[in-house]
Amino acid sequence: MKKFEEMDLIAPLQRALRDEKYKAPTPIQEQTIPVAVSGRDVLGCAQTGTGKTAAFALPVLNHLGQRNRKAVSQCPFVLVLAPTRELAIQISHSFSTYGKHLKLRRALVYGGVGQGNQVRAMNRGAHILIATPGRLLDLMNQGCIDLAQVEMIVLDEADRMLDMGFLPDVKRILNQLPDDRQTLFFSATMPPSIVDLSKRMLTQPVNVQIQSNSVSVDKIEQKVLLLQRNQKQESLRGIVTADDAGQVLVFTRTKRGADVVARKLDQSGVRTMAIHGNKSQNARQRALEAFRKYQVQVLVATDVAARGIDIDGITHVVNFDLPVDPESYVHRIGRTGRAGASGIAISFCTDGERRELREIQKLLGNKVRLVFEHSNGASEQLHRPSMPRTKGSTTSRSTSKRPSSRRSSTRSFAPASTANGKPKNRRKQRKGRNARQRLKQASQ
Ligand code: AMP
Repeated sequence: MKKFEEMDLIAPLQRALRDEKYKAPTPIQEQTIPVAVSGRDVLGCAQTGTGKTAAFALPVLNHLGQRNRKAVSQCPFVLVLAPTRELAIQISHSFSTYGKHLKLRRALVYGGVGQGNQVRAMNRGAHILIATPGRLLDLMNQGCIDLAQVEMIVLDEADRMLDMGFLPDVKRILNQLPDDRQTLFFSATMPPSIVDLSKRMLTQPVNVQIQSNSVSVDKIEQKVLLLQRNQKQESLRGIVTADDAGQVLVFTRTKRGADVVARKLDQSGVRTMAIHGNKSQNARQRALEAFRKYQVQVLVATDVAARGIDIDGITHVVNFDLPVDPESYVHRIGRTGRAGASGIAISFCTDGERRELREIQKLLGNKVRLVFEHSNGASEQLHRPSMPRTKGSTTSRSTSKRPSSRRSSTRSFAPASTANGKPKNRRKQRKGRNARQRLKQASQ
């Protein structure tokens, strides 16, 4: 493996890496940095938590740090596009960490806050502009930003950018860039739309693929908890108050859901905050900081708000609701198990969410083991199991596709007993109901 010292990085960057105590490059860094430093375009397929930010930040800083240039008002030399404000802020932090021995100026441009400070920063001049697409276009249209001098562009989390409907904005921004720039393009997944966009943006790129097509979740223990909707809140409380739980990140599908879950958990004595798109930028930053500094144990988030959160020490990710889009599952659980640490991801799945679970299983393929647990505690490890059935399925149907040696524990997926422990036999129940109705009719 190539060491950082063997890479063609200038001394101030080597010093910063020593300060950070990075011993060896991660695979994405090892493969990306040398080719990016040589000036080639890069198409990188890697999910968050792999050290992707340094993989593009170091070549960018290396490029800028080799020349002693003053920043030019309104005209950045490097543009980094990110899908969310949180990610943009985080990228800016990373640039400040790796570039701390260089005299380079950065500007951050994102929506949801007043534009005054951002316009002033651009007027003063910044070597590196880190931006979300919407506000960037806005300021470009107002004549506050000119991309004519951009030498390098980084597109981070391109798939999420497209998911969020930024494609038209991204295309408009690309049209303003000089043709002879260098492009570093990163995406956690490579659906056809991303491949199309990358073809438009890149010139003879070097492909860097860290995980085959989509997922690297092998360090993360993944469980699916099959339960009823009304059991979710209590199950969540059980998870966050268990001995092994440290910082827990919880995902809900809706903003309102995030608020409700956070409020109930907080009321039950677990310090919790919520983060979603309806909260002001300041409130979102406050919640993130509180979580980062262990002032709250649980952060409840929607997908968009949590995208790219890089917080070390998240022991559990809980999918309170399964995501509609299976790719989001990978992004969500990638918040734990960062930088080589292990982590646990627990997904709640009700009957109504079985379709989403099937989609996730399809995406994960055969490589990933999901541990299924019924809310009564029975568990089993299966290699890509056929869909477990809960309510409304009979035991024989739920086990029919499984090897006989597994049948006994598999039965736990189907609620074979009612809450009072008595066998639940739907035909018997129906018969009983019909008999009661007949009796009632007869007695009228
Ligand atoms: P990223 O995927 O860029 O969000 O990085 C995830 C985490 O890995 C961050 O906390 C980085 O500080 C950390 N990290 C990045 N590169 C290295 C490295 N070579 N050695 C150790 N930690 C790293």
